[in-house]
Formats: sequence, structure tokens, C-alpha cells
Amino acid sequence: MNLYIDGRWVAAPDSAPVLDPATEEIIGMVPLAGADHLDQAVAAAVRGGRVWRDTPIADRTRILLTAAGLLTSRADQVARVMTTEQGKPLAEAKGEVLRVAGALRWDAEDARRAYGRIIPSAGDTVLSVRHEPIGPVAAFTPWNFPAGSPMRKIAGALSAGCSIVIKASEETPGTAVEIVRCFADAGLPAGALNLVFGDPATVSRHLIASPDIRLVAFTGSIPVGKLLASQAGAAMKPSLMELGGHAPVIVCADADPASAARAAVAAKFANAGQVCTSPSRFLVHRSVYDGFVAEFLSATAGIVVGNGLDDGVTMGPLANPRRLKAMEEFVADAVSRGATVETGGRRLDRPGFFFAPTVLTGVPGDALIMREEPFGPIAPITAFDDLDEALAIANSLPYGLAAYGFTRSSKTAEKLISGFEAGILSINHCGGSVHEAPSGGVKQSGYGREGGPEGLEAYLITKRVSHLLVD
Ligand code: NAD
Repeated sequence: MNLYIDGRWVAAPDSAPVLDPATEEIIGMVPLAGADHLDQAVAAAVRGGRVWRDTPIADRTRILLTAAGLLTSRADQVARVMTTEQGKPLAEAKGEVLRVAGALRWDAEDARRAYGRIIPSAGDTVLSVRHEPIGPVAAFTPWNFPAGSPMRKIAGALSAGCSIVIKASEETPGTAVEIVRCFADAGLPAGALNLVFGDPATVSRHLIASPDIRLVAFTGSIPVGKLLASQAGAAMKPSLMELGGHAPVIVCADADPASAARAAVAAKFANAGQVCTSPSRFLVHRSVYDGFVAEFLSATAGIVVGNGLDDGVTMGPLANPRRLKAMEEFVADAVSRGATVETGGRRLDRPGFFFAPTVLTGVPGDALIMREEPFGPIAPITAFDDLDEALAIANSLPYGLAAYGFTRSSKTAEKLISGFEAGILSINHCGGSVHEAPSGGVKQSGYGREGGPEGLEAYLITKRVSHLLVD
């Protein structure tokens, strides 16, 4: 595995091991960039960025669609790389690869419609608004969606005509390498896309400080997001922050508790709960609580935990030992405050970072799991009596990414939609994100949007041009 700088695969003197979370075996070495590599990547992004923005839009679109096609045709192989380094079941990994190829297509085609406008003005003046690429982007992405997170940033930047230096996760580097290979094979000009790995804090500080970097894009935890946003702010650079969440699910008295529970289980344990929009606090009206818990437990019992490469497995290991330790701490804390472990609650007695799908009931509001993002396969369920009280609990945390509501009443649904303090709402289902609509948070879950027409906004600047006509 190598870094990708200025259209070439470049070796690095230092490297770190990459683990298979299902076996704990070393499966490869990730190269770690030094300061000189980072400087070369930025210089390449400046040169490549000029070439890319001056490439006719039809040619840019053709290259990006070719890359999307290559990724689609390589989906099986890329999914296998992803499962081996991240753990999610092969079918989930392949779904992610195909989805991100779709996201690239969507962004590439949408960028053709980054129209400006002509504004009526005095006859001797043409007043117009134009959109142009902001310039080289520095992006930092995590390990939970090894294809999804990098591609959202790469697709946004390249579609808008920007170059990008991306530091993908050192824990899941192989997937990012496969994605970059598709762009290289599609004929992307050298320097338009550069891939580095390294010590995260060192790489981000170095890249963000570079005057040539014009936008900082990050997906990850709130504390790291605050750090990078403050570094970007100190240099007066805009940033795009996709941070953590702790999504409430409100199941109202008039909802069908069984279908709500089945939808919730499918979403909760996808990617072993390591999803920023994962439903993670279940607030269920007391009148349907028992039915919801019974169906939730029954659906949870159907989850097959194992190596994501094996047939029939529906939940893989956690991606790293940090999450395993965090799960143990969440459960111990909840139990010490009176919660009941209905199922799971422990790591599995086998190699790999496996934690059993866990359901906790009677979880008090002051339990850690009700206040901090679990980012793992634990579902805390608690009863409520009054919808206003449930909404107040839902909005009581500094997070504001996703929220879910189940009700048969359209009036109650509208109350939830306007009441939830979150950027991504799902009513009567727990479906995932779609390319054609924006995703992003409010409050401390971040700012800026990825996906939909809004997804390109961060990567474009707006110029007002007032042109006085002269002979
Ligand atoms: P972490 O805070 O150590 O790291 C989160 C991500 O940020 C990782 O990819 C890491 O490599 C990167 N990172 C850390 N310090 C950095 C820096 N100074 N500059 C640039 N990148 C840096 O946490 P973790 O243990 O990897 O993950 C656990 C927590 O992270 C979870 O609880 C969750 O809140 C959050 N997380 C969120 C998302 C998301 O999609 N929003 C994804 C992964 C992790």
C-alpha cells in the first residue's frame, strides 16, 4: 500500500499495522506520510487543481462517471477489502460501495447545473452571480464508512472542480486506496486527488495551516471536529463538519410497536451500531412499551454475529478495541444505575472485537448511554408518558444529527418534525441516507451538508460581478 501524490503511488519510510477486527491478525501496513509528503501533496493539489478546474465540464463529468463505473464493476473486490479491515458483513460493504458510486454519479451530474444568474440592472451594466471552485480541499475521514466518508468528500470536491488532499482512516486504508485507484484509472489529471495517511493530529495541523488549502472537511467525533474547526477558524478558512449524534427514536402511543421495533433493530445493529445516524435512544410510550420491547428482543435474537466474510452473518465485530472497551463501560454504568440487561451486554468469547447485540431496559436518564453517543451495538429503551416530555428528553443533549419518530397520526408526525432539533429526520422508518437529499447536523453535530444540491455549496465560492460595458 502506498500514498497517492501527484498522480503517482509513493512509498513512505514509516508504516503502521492494519488489523482484521474479526481475527485481530495483521493484514497489511499503512504508509505514514511525513511533512515533505504533505507539502508535495498540497503543491500537487495546487497544480492539479488548476488543470482540473480548467478542464471542460463535459470532460470532467465523463472522467467522474468513468470512475463511478469502475467502482461499480469492482464492487465485490472492494467490499472484500472493506470487510477484512473494518468488519461489516460483506453484503453491507458491497451495498456501501454501490451506494457511493451512485453518490459520485449524482454529484458529477449535479455539478453541471451549478448555474449562476444574471440580475436585471442598468442598461450599461451586466450584474451577475457566478459560482467557482473554492480551491484545494483538505479532508479527514473516519473508519466506520471506509468508502462512504471518503467518497462524499472526493465526489463533492472533484464535481465542483476542486482538487483534494484526503487523509482517510489509518484503520481502513485499503478501501480508500481502491477508490483512488478508480479515479486514477479513469484518467483524472495528476494532483487533482491526493491520498495520504499518517499521524492524524500532525497531518491535520500541517494541512490546515497551509495557505494553499481553502476548505477543511471532516467527518468524525465532536471533540476532534471542534479542534479542526478551531484550527480552520484561526486561519479564516471555512469548514464542513459532519460530527457525531445520539439519535432519539420516539415511538408514540398510536404507533404499531412491532413494526417500529423491527425497523429499529435493522437500523440499530447495522454496521454494529457504528453509524453517526444510528438510532440510539429509544423513548417508547408506556402503553406500547411491552409490545415494543418483546418484538425488539425477538428481532435482536435473529442477528447472526460473526466474521463478515462468512455467509449468513448479519453483524460483524466492532472495528477496533476502543469501541469494545467503550461498550463494556456503557453497560457497567447503566447496570450500576439500575438498568436491566435483556440480552447481550458482553464481548464474545472468541478472537476479534466482537460484542453481543445488547438491549437494556429501564435505563435512567442519567446513565452514560443516554447522554453519550454509544457508537456500538447497544440499544437502551425507556418508557415515557407524555410526548412533550419525550421531545424534551430527545432535545436535551448537545447532539442534533438524526432523529426518528413512529406514529399513525399526521398531526403528531408534524409535531415531531418541527419539534426535533436534528438535521436528518425519518418518520415511520429508519432508512439510511440518499444521494439526492442533504445530510448534516445541527447543534454540536456540525455544520454544512453532504448530498443533494446543498452538498456542492461548501465546495463553491460565489462571486458577484458588476460589469460596466465599455466600447
Ligand atoms: P476519535 O475521536 O479518536 O477519532 C475519530 C476520527 O477522527 C478518526 O477517524 C481519527 O483518525 C480522526 N482523528 C482523530 N484525531 C484527529 C486529528 N487531530 N486530526 C484529524 N483527524 C483526527 O475517535 P474514535 O475512537 O476513532 O471513534 C470514536 C468516536 O468517534 C465515536 O464515539 C464517534 O462519536 C466518533 N465517530 C464519528 C463518526 C461519524 O461518522 N460522525 C465516525 C467515526 C467516529
